[in-house]
Amino acid sequence: MKNTKYNDKSVESPDSAVKTESPENAHELSFTCPQCGGNQLFLRQEALLEVQAVYADGDVDCGDVYPDQDLGYECRGCDYVLKDNNGGSVCTGADLVAWLVANCEQVGQ
Ligand SMILES: [Zn+2]
Repeated sequence: MKNTKYNDKSVESPDSAVKTESPENAHELSFTCPQCGGNQLFLRQEALLEVQAVYADGDVDCGDVYPDQDLGYECRGCDYVLKDNNGGSVCTGADLVAWLVANCEQVGQ
């Protein structure tokens, strides 16, 4: 059984999950929750920043970003969290597409 701690791959910047540009011919994928059948997908974006120094004038130096354990996509209806094949949270757009194609019935293909 694989260790589910974050590896190098899953410590990508959360920014990679919010790319908005899509190829013009890309079709929209639909989400259906395998647990409750809901269709409303939410993206949780909190992340942890390592505090490196706090100064008396109120400045705070922060370093590396760590994805929060709850970072990722989840169902609005039942809080079902999308997981990849290794049990890690689906965090990036590419992972999300792969999950939707594998787990939800897509129309118009
Ligand atoms: Zn659900």
